[in-house]
Amino acid sequence: MIERRPPKVLRGSPHQVKRRPTRRAGRPSDPTQALLGALTDAVVAVDALGDIVYLNGTAQQWFAVDVEPTGVTHADHPGKAPAAHVGKSAIPALAHCFEPGSTAATILTLVLEHCRASRRAVPASEPFSLPSPVGRVGNLGQARRRLRLVASPAGPDLTVLVFSDVSDSVRHTERLLHEARHDALTGLPNRVLLGDRLEQLLRRGERVALLFIDLDRFCRINEALGQRHGDAVLHAVAARLADACPPGASVGRWGGDEFVVLIDEQTPAHAVRALAEQLLRAASRCQVVDGLEMQCTCSIGIASTLADSAEPEVLVAAAEAAMRRAKALGGGRCEWPATARPAWTRDLLVLEERLRQAIGTGGFVLHYQPQVDMVSGKPVGLEALVRWRQANGDLWSPGRFLAVAEESGAILGIGAWVVREAADQMMSWLALGLPALPVSVNVSARQCRDRHLVDLVGQVLADTGLPPELLKLEITETTAMSDVEEVRVLLGELRALGVGVSVDDFGTGYSSFAHLTRLPIDQIKIDQSFVHEVEDGPNGAAIVRATIKLAHELGVPVVAEGVESAGQMKFLAAQKCDIAQGYYCSHPLAADAAEQWMRAAAQA
Ligand code: C2E
Ligand code: MG
Ligand code: MG
Repeated sequence: MIERRPPKVLRGSPHQVKRRPTRRAGRPSDPTQALLGALTDAVVAVDALGDIVYLNGTAQQWFAVDVEPTGVTHADHPGKAPAAHVGKSAIPALAHCFEPGSTAATILTLVLEHCRASRRAVPASEPFSLPSPVGRVGNLGQARRRLRLVASPAGPDLTVLVFSDVSDSVRHTERLLHEARHDALTGLPNRVLLGDRLEQLLRRGERVALLFIDLDRFCRINEALGQRHGDAVLHAVAARLADACPPGASVGRWGGDEFVVLIDEQTPAHAVRALAEQLLRAASRCQVVDGLEMQCTCSIGIASTLADSAEPEVLVAAAEAAMRRAKALGGGRCEWPATARPAWTRDLLVLEERLRQAIGTGGFVLHYQPQVDMVSGKPVGLEALVRWRQANGDLWSPGRFLAVAEESGAILGIGAWVVREAADQMMSWLALGLPALPVSVNVSARQCRDRHLVDLVGQVLADTGLPPELLKLEITETTAMSDVEEVRVLLGELRALGVGVSVDDFGTGYSSFAHLTRLPIDQIKIDQSFVHEVEDGPNGAAIVRATIKLAHELGVPVVAEGVESAGQMKFLAAQKCDIAQGYYCSHPLAADAAEQWMRAAAQA
């Protein structure tokens, strides 16, 4: 590019001019001037006093510094003081282009000083940008021009600053860097970037909660519809997760169908839980894939620096283990490491084997928790809850072994024992003249998928003689919604046997009532987390109220789980909840204690 206009040159002080007579005002005929004018790099020469003695055309254009023949360097754009007013120094005149006090201005000054002191060429450590409007590069919209600077001594009193436009290569590098740290499919930060962010946050001592998200049964989409549709689902879910996150949270794709969200742990625990629930809801909204309406639920594990670890790898592993537990419990839910099964260890393998052995050797017992009518206060049912008897006499609650039992398949044997034992017990109580109360038995996701459940229940009814209306099966909402069509058939077959069906932990699985109406169910059990919040939590009261109202409109009675206080009872009674179950009425009781409780209740 040839500079048509002769560059204006600041005439230096008389001695400079004398020393460098050839540097007088540019003459087109001067081959040196023509050469410098033709350069696409910006060339600026400054003398020992800091005055600019030369700018080529490119420099004038980029920095919008005009040089008047009177020898006053001045900034072209409004509001900027001419250099003469800032001590006649060329550097401030140029520095104004780099926003005084900015990194660029500091670099400029440092490089110049270093060059003068060392008398050798000094490159700036990194490219820097010119501010708008002067730095705006025409064909790059709002992008800033990125410059590399080298200052070289050009004589005893002269320093030449050469600025090269490296915008393209910087942008190229930035793009490569972006690509290396972002996921190409979803545009979200990838594992590398998230890992870096996590490490930085933890190194600064910040508190972080980490949500590890994995889509449930995602591979079925890839398998059935092909990777293109699988990618479309991932893309849509990623956008929903990102939308559902609050500002300040980092969401990224960890790999495959896994996502990670990092959030400041100043956020209270219930807000982190609320976020997890929001993410579960967002992911599971139906979407149309290849003409099919599909639901893609996810499982979330939550770990935090406060409760778990401030080591990045340990924190991620804890959240991942919690996610696996959520999955083993049927998916579509969130779990915390405190109750999560850690990654497989030798101890867990031993636990799995002990579980198998316990099935055939009377290692389990059932406890029974009464359910009472909200109006009359009379017992209307019992829920059978399994416990594992240890060699030292301790009884382990399901939370300690259910995940391993479910994952290993041991739950099938345990579940079969539970149904038979509950039916036997009920028959014994009937024989003793106790009131005929239905007994509820929990069945897990794995049992529901097992085609033998209906046969098992039919066989138990036949063997024990238990009237079918005295047996209820509880399946969690998440299981019920995991494959509505398959579950509908299963529940239909169970109902055909005459047994009842309850939807357990309702509210945690994010199904809609519309889905629920497609299932043949007899009862809804509101999850205890909502019941615990009816008095002081943010949403509990509204959720419980709405659930009861809608269930009643559908003609389905409601059990409130985990009722612990008179206040909760009062609230539930006001909402016309049908049945209460919880410590307020009775803890789960061993069979003989349950028998006494029923006798006492019958006499009351
Ligand atoms: P669930 O079916 O929702 O059972 C209610 C759980 O809440 C029981 O815990 C019970 O002891 C506890 N609970 C009852 N009232 C209160 C209360 O007022 N406050 C509080 N904080 N908790 C209360 P448990 O026995 O530890 O059982 C936990 C879960 O394990 C059960 O939740 C159920 O999903 C599962 N489970 C229990 N027995 C079986 C079984 O035989 N088979 C299967 N597949 N799962 C079972
Ligand atoms: Mg239950
Ligand atoms: Mg429950």
